[in-house]
Amino acid sequence: MPAPRLAIIGAGISGLTLATLLGGHADVVVIDKSRGVGGRMASRRVGEASFDHGAQFFTARSKAFQRFLQPWIDAGTVKAWEPRVLTLEAGSKPYRRDWFEPHYVGVPAMTALPKALAAGLNLSLQAEVTKVEREAEAWWLTFADSSRAGPFDWVVATAPAPQILNWFPSVFNGLEALQHVRYAPCFALMLGFAELPELRFDAARVKSSPLDWIVRGGSKEGTVPQQTLLLHSTRAWAAEELEAESSIVVDNLCKALDNAIGIPLPLPEFSLLHRWRYASSAQTTSSAFELDVTNSLAACGDWSVFSDADNGGTRVESSFLSASALAERLLTLPGFRA
Ligand SMILES: Cc1cc2nc3c(=O)[nH]c(=O)nc-3n(C[C@H](O)[C@H](O)[C@H](O)COP(=O)(O)OP(=O)(O)OC[C@H]3O[C@@H](n4cnc5c(N)ncnc54)[C@H](O)[C@@H]3O)c2cc1C
Repeated sequence: MPAPRLAIIGAGISGLTLATLLGGHADVVVIDKSRGVGGRMASRRVGEASFDHGAQFFTARSKAFQRFLQPWIDAGTVKAWEPRVLTLEAGSKPYRRDWFEPHYVGVPAMTALPKALAAGLNLSLQAEVTKVEREAEAWWLTFADSSRAGPFDWVVATAPAPQILNWFPSVFNGLEALQHVRYAPCFALMLGFAELPELRFDAARVKSSPLDWIVRGGSKEGTVPQQTLLLHSTRAWAAEELEAESSIVVDNLCKALDNAIGIPLPLPEFSLLHRWRYASSAQTTSSAFELDVTNSLAACGDWSVFSDADNGGTRVESSFLSASALAERLLTLPGFRA
């Protein structure tokens, strides 16, 4: 019997984990609307500078994720990051923060792990799915440019839940659970300077500010020194200002930066703002994944029960756990090669 043909929509850590674990058991294609892989494990080059403007690091608390990562740690694709971390608050003395577990980063950028996972996979990029339809006992995908792909026996969605709702078939019995998922947004601001003054931190958590997090360029493993800063806003501030003009958001975040550091910084040579509308799930499902065996449809991602949303806990590891739980379940179904 031929292996089931399976389309995975999304080449973030969820989709890539699922495709990796199903390798050899199904005929898998991973489809993503972006030019590259990684999703929110995102990196961006601006001239000589490089920014991780999505996930900053990831932890591995489960044995399963630790085991999955080990070959990539051994290969140097993933390394523990040990920055000098401060907590900053305007008007208060900065204090040091200690990390009590490894905080991993991709080397030389956050996309390193997704790129390594994708290397052996069948990928289709710059392909934005707009519809998933049943035709003659199989699934067909329609893309934004009106082209189509299929037939598929199974379709699995791994995007943030509110995005899945836009194009997944209404027969999917997991849609109701996904309707309850909520996400919080985040602004990422990438700043490049002619020369930065000496800073006493590599990374800083900021309190009582529109800013949540600051990282000095070149402080991560495998990166070269650069005169840049990456800022993340708080989720709450981003929710209030989400539709504000970019120039206003940039001004306000730069003011918050000066306040947090306690000195005015020189004007940046460039600034680039990214709006993450679905940064982290603020309300999640109570299941590990959504599976509809009757219709051969499924979904997994960082909106599942593995996310500790109350503690800002949507994490790379949550996506990994959701995808690996789904892979394990799919492999028990008839048709998937043992
Ligand atoms: C600003 C920010 C900071 C973060 N910080 C951390 C952190 O420090 N530590 C941590 O562990 N986690 C962090 N996270 C969360 C972490 O990045 C995510 O939980 C994780 O990467 C999600 O992976 P995923 O594969 O489930 O989803 P995604 O990475 O979102 O992947 C989904 C993919 O689906 C694709 N897609 C969506 N719609 C379509 C469509 N219609 N057609 C085709 N493709 C589509 C997207 O392009 C995307 O590549 C952060 C996230 C953000 C945004």
